[in-house]
Amino acid sequence: MQIINPATEQVIDEIVEDTEVTVKEKYALVRKGQRGWGARTVEERLEVIGRFFDLLDVEKEVLAATLTAETGKPLQQSNNELNGARARTRWLLDHSGQWLKDEWVVTEGATREKISYEPLGVIANISAWNYPYLVGVNVFIPALIGGNGVLYKPSEYATLTGMHIQRLLHKAGVPSDVFQLVAGGGAVGALLLELPLDGYFFTGSYRTGRLIAEKVASKLVPCQLELGGKDPLYVMDDVEDIGKVAGAALEGVVYNNGQSCCAVERIYVQEGVYDDFVKAYEEQARKMVVGDPTKAGTDIGPLSRPGQLEFLQDQIADAVGKGARLLYGGGRIGGKGYFIEPAVLVDVNHGMKLMMEESFGPVVGIQKVRDDAEAVQLMGDTEYGLTAAVYSKSYQRAEEVMRQLNTGTVYWNCCDRVSAGLPWSGRKNSGLGVTLSYQGIRAFVQPKAYHIRP
Ligand code: NAD
Repeated sequence: MQIINPATEQVIDEIVEDTEVTVKEKYALVRKGQRGWGARTVEERLEVIGRFFDLLDVEKEVLAATLTAETGKPLQQSNNELNGARARTRWLLDHSGQWLKDEWVVTEGATREKISYEPLGVIANISAWNYPYLVGVNVFIPALIGGNGVLYKPSEYATLTGMHIQRLLHKAGVPSDVFQLVAGGGAVGALLLELPLDGYFFTGSYRTGRLIAEKVASKLVPCQLELGGKDPLYVMDDVEDIGKVAGAALEGVVYNNGQSCCAVERIYVQEGVYDDFVKAYEEQARKMVVGDPTKAGTDIGPLSRPGQLEFLQDQIADAVGKGARLLYGGGRIGGKGYFIEPAVLVDVNHGMKLMMEESFGPVVGIQKVRDDAEAVQLMGDTEYGLTAAVYSKSYQRAEEVMRQLNTGTVYWNCCDRVSAGLPWSGRKNSGLGVTLSYQGIRAFVQPKAYHIRP
């Protein structure tokens, strides 16, 4: 398998993909190794993961450079991702002990009762490329702390990063028969679905997630899916600084080259501030620097995959063909690399793919709305349910809207963010199950009820 730098289209490495035979061997190895790991105390496992937390910092420079080289993420954002992954790991290190210890429910009388939390066993972590550290850490860190063995399949577009992760975990002291990387594309991922694993934890597209859920359903083991979104942002007419709100929305659209699961993908603006918002958004979008992701000052690097350019341009053409106006952007930049200008479209509606399908790029449609009721109706008109943002001076007014939205996360005066202490979950086609927060710690263990008659 060739690893291609999306900024230069050069082959930067070649990897030997796993096969049915090697995947089975790795499974047998981890199945055996998990017993010893699961038998260690939580404190012992936390100590090992603590060393991984340190190593992420020690090797930051080389990790960030690799991440940028294989995904096209601007270097500053690669550093941000590593800092974010450390912060999440820290949170999990600080809070897991509390949620994994035995819980006494009845301590007096004839029958005492307690709950203990046991590992699931050996789980699959099938991962995405857009934030390989962040979405990886959400799964393999609590899985390992909980005592599980992990077969980790990084995305084929983030394999070198996955290899760094494996190297650092092993260096930190996670035994090599407890964590094993499986390298390859979708066909290799599919081999994991044939194994008798004890849980499937997937981050990626709805299409693949649904296929995995269907495929493993008869195993009756946990299957968690963190999938895509079509996340809306609504600007109410009482916002005070429209330039600042437009800037925040733009960052929500284009950060990580627009390839975030919780990126802002649709913008609704109340009519009183609509013209000012569109003007401010377009002005700032035109100033975005698109180019070499290794250079300081670059806002937007290349898309990670070549097909994505045509996909976005097709969404734009579909919208324009149905009456939208392209105010700026959408053109391919440069001869080499998968670069696209950020695109701003207005006069959009829900008959256009741009407003209904996940874009996963720095493009957005801005739609005018009369009032909060219309905004709620349009924001909810989607198959997805990951996040939604509301910008307003009034928390009360914003909360009234947020309450009515069927999404796992809502934001007031912010967007496109994830917190380790809060549950990360998608509704409808955005996913199933929870990572992060105490619920994301418990997701990797199973309760055992003890009835004890002394
Ligand atoms: P993808 O579905 O193409 O691939 C995800 C993973 O699944 C990869 O490792 C891939 O090799 C593997 N895979 C593909 N086919 C498979 C099969 N048949 N069996 C088993 N594994 C298979 O997704 P992607 O392009 O890597 O990621 C982008 C998507 O992920 C977007 O939709 C994005 O919104 C979503 N995402 C969601 C979250 C979240 O937290 N909700 C986070 C990041 C990304």
